[in-house]
Amino acid sequence: MTAWRIGETEILRIPEQLGPNAMAPDAFFPGLDRALLETHRAWLEPTYYDRAADRLISSIHSWLIRHNGRTILLDGCAGNHKNRPFNPRFHMLNTPFLERLAAVGTTPEAVDMVLCTHLHADHVGWNTRLLDGRWVPTFPNARYLFSRTEHDHWRPTAETPGPRAEVYADSVLPVVEAGLVELLDGAAQLDTGLFVDPAPGHTPGHVVLRLEAPRQSALFCGDVVHHPLQLYAPEMNSAFCECGPEARTTRRRVLEHCAEAGTLLFPTHFGPPHVAGVKREGAAFAPDFAAGTAARSTP
Ligand SMILES: [Zn+2]
Repeated sequence: MTAWRIGETEILRIPEQLGPNAMAPDAFFPGLDRALLETHRAWLEPTYYDRAADRLISSIHSWLIRHNGRTILLDGCAGNHKNRPFNPRFHMLNTPFLERLAAVGTTPEAVDMVLCTHLHADHVGWNTRLLDGRWVPTFPNARYLFSRTEHDHWRPTAETPGPRAEVYADSVLPVVEAGLVELLDGAAQLDTGLFVDPAPGHTPGHVVLRLEAPRQSALFCGDVVHHPLQLYAPEMNSAFCECGPEARTTRRRVLEHCAEAGTLLFPTHFGPPHVAGVKREGAAFAPDFAAGTAARSTP
């Protein structure tokens, strides 16, 4: 499995799935200028856009971060056996995610910390697993970190039937009830060189994880940026961005920061090679995939 190294920190990508979005590009990105797909088709196809199917392609993966003796899992994909009739990509999956974790030498018991950038269904799935008909924490020894704003945004919906309540009930509530959750208020330092920063917009309490090493830095941006095409059109929100104007402001701020500081972007949904530097291009940006690939510690 591909690994990256930032200073002394090792980062592994634990894939769950890679494939076409359930929705057409202009449903996924409402207001998408189709000319953007034409302008960038040379690098978009076939990795990031399937023209025949007219679908953007995205990955759903977790980042496993080995930092200062700790094992941290960032974002929990869609998970197995979850009832998600609203999206076929999340519905009743049975993927070998835990086997992939085992293949890089990590048992669920060895994970010290789980951080969810936000609580959408494709970021919380592996928080829990089905055991004898009950949802139990997948990582029994981990502290699960969520932003308090995010958690409180989702919690009341648990009283109201519907897809959001179901996601909370099967993938968040069991870890809350197990006493494993620590709610974060605003910015937080998790360890030497490891920081959580508020990045609201995609959801009200969305956070990013920033890793600072002496000569390199990384930003795990969750869904602040969903698809590499957004670097060329940073004002473009997805249909799932809950607070539109704030999502645009945060996306531009995060991309400005990466371009300025030479920080590598580790998103949750970019297709291969999954990691990119950020360059300025006019009033927008462009991905520098070579910079992301250069930080790999395995081919
Ligand atoms: Zn997502």
